[in-house]
Amino acid sequence: MTKDDCIFCKIAKGEIPSSTVYETPDFKCFLDLAPANKGHALLIPKNHYSNVFDIDADTAGRLFSLATEIARAIKEETGCEGMNLVQNNGECAGQTVHHFHLHFIPRFKDDGVGLGWPQGKADPEENNKLAEAIRKRI
Ligand code: AMP
Ligand code: ZN
Repeated sequence: MTKDDCIFCKIAKGEIPSSTVYETPDFKCFLDLAPANKGHALLIPKNHYSNVFDIDADTAGRLFSLATEIARAIKEETGCEGMNLVQNNGECAGQTVHHFHLHFIPRFKDDGVGLGWPQGKADPEENNKLAEAIRKRI
């Protein structure tokens, strides 16, 4: 999918409708059309970035700063007890719309929303080596 036929670019420009929760010149938050729970919202930068590997740190930082305010507002309005902030990158990670977006998924006790994964068991020494190798790339 290119920028030209990106559905979230069209939502950002107001070319297709969305239930807008909040908007600034650079960001837009709107309700998900297929919500996991009531109040499930998406926050996007209006400029097109495909995913976390593509977005710049300044834009991502401002987006996450705004996310704290949006999360609190959704919590107050829905009365949710908890919330998952989910951000998928790449098809194998479940990303279906390839325009960076952050999900806000309000959570209620025993709501049946499934976001889990099977837990592995790390070797602490291997973890230390891997952590160091990753650290060297930052
Ligand atoms: P992801 O799987 O992380 O790429 O999430 C994409 C999300 O976008 C899904 O939860 C969809 O339900 C949602 N979505 C797709 N099209 C629209 C739309 N036009 N308006 C609101 N949400 C949408
Ligand atoms: Zn886009």
